Amino acid sequence: MTTPRQADIVIFGAGIAGLWTHAYLSNLGYNALLLESDKIGGVQSIASQGIIHSGLKFAFAGKISKLAKSISAMPERWRDALNEKGEVDLSGAVINAQSQLLMIPPGFLGDISKTVAKKTLGKNVREIAQSEWPEEIKNSGFKGSVIFMDERVLDIPSVVQTLMQPYKDSIKAIPKNDAKTPLDFLEKNGIEAKKILFTTAGENLGIAATLNHEKGLETQSRPLLMAMMKPAPFPLFAHFVGKTDKPVATVTTHTDQNGKRVWYIGGLVAERPVTAPPEDSIKAAKKALASYLPGVDISEAQWAVIPIARSEGKSKTDGWMPDTPTLHRAGNVLYGWPTKLTFAPMLADAVLKELQNSNIEPSNTRNDWSFLTSAPLAQPPWENATWKRS
Ligand SMILES: Cc1cc2nc3c(=O)[nH]c(=O)nc-3n(C[C@H](O)[C@H](O)[C@H](O)COP(=O)(O)OP(=O)(O)OC[C@H]3O[C@@H](n4cnc5c(N)ncnc54)[C@H](O)[C@@H]3O)c2cc1C
Repeated sequence: MTTPRQADIVIFGAGIAGLWTHAYLSNLGYNALLLESDKIGGVQSIASQGIIHSGLKFAFAGKISKLAKSISAMPERWRDALNEKGEVDLSGAVINAQSQLLMIPPGFLGDISKTVAKKTLGKNVREIAQSEWPEEIKNSGFKGSVIFMDERVLDIPSVVQTLMQPYKDSIKAIPKNDAKTPLDFLEKNGIEAKKILFTTAGENLGIAATLNHEKGLETQSRPLLMAMMKPAPFPLFAHFVGKTDKPVATVTTHTDQNGKRVWYIGGLVAERPVTAPPEDSIKAAKKALASYLPGVDISEAQWAVIPIARSEGKSKTDGWMPDTPTLHRAGNVLYGWPTKLTFAPMLADAVLKELQNSNIEPSNTRNDWSFLTSAPLAQPPWENATWKRS
């Protein structure tokens, strides 16, 4: 017998991890409550590039093993969700690109790694002859090989809205002050949870420490200073492959609310402390564009930079991201990091398994959470950035 304020699970943090898990479990009949202390869409999620990785980038970088393999199962889960056949309904989400390019200057990638990558992830990779290159790349002055990758790029604001829509009545705000003592907030409001999940990214560790749950919990933060450029001359979804195992730049294209095209640039260009001078990322982005697309005129462009700390469970391998999502357990409290947006379904699987292992069945009830307030939606970084000629 459940009391009116008993939830099967209370999830803190409405980034992709919280939103996907909340929708997934709610679809299965679990009575789930999702609480957000700031904006729905998260910090990292709304700032992500929206690439649903299949492991190709990692395979080409020689990281074929576990990461490339575990991630390669994900695109199908997302594709099913986009086609209304999945565990959550993403049919309202916008696909920014159906595929991406790997742009490889001559001599930058040995034939062996091309062959191995193709063998591992074969049918989704295809080198394209120069005559078949997109017109803009043909005219960009790029020299080298272009590999077509069958990987989608999603518009994250639309993913967020689509995921929250069916269950928005159980997505609520927790005031920032209360978010520091989240369990007290539940008690104060008479909310009982059979299981609690924190998907609060960088805040997970602090919460775990407050609750004495940090034993065995190891985390890492990989900071980024992402560069943004507008107006972008054409839609580009590409990794500029360099001589190391990470792309020199990863460029995705987005449209701001005034209809202006934005190039959002990550990869090595952005890998620097959030306290580094923002101009460093802009300089690196310009250098990458000048080197890979020398024929493209960006002299009139405006630039902006957004600092963001990626937060993950600790990698066991050399500063790269972990191979899978991380889930830390302490009694009936869980702490989760998806590691990548792409891995959100896998994190949700792990949470479901925890519920099942604790014999928590879906209660098939929905509570009235209207005594709690609603949280606003997050905006992607290019909307609030300070733009300037640089
Ligand atoms: C610049 C960038 C680009 C990326 N690009 C990609 C990509 O293209 N593809 C990909 O697969 N991955 C990408 N990633 C990684 C991916 O974005 C993250 O792994 C993923 O979004 C993390 O989701 P999350 O829900 O754990 O965290 P977040 O999205 O950060 O959400 C955490 C939420 O918890 C809330 N919160 C914090 N404390 C509390 C509290 N006490 N109570 C309630 N709520 C709280 C926060 O306000 C926030 O809304 C990228 C990451 C970055 C930074």
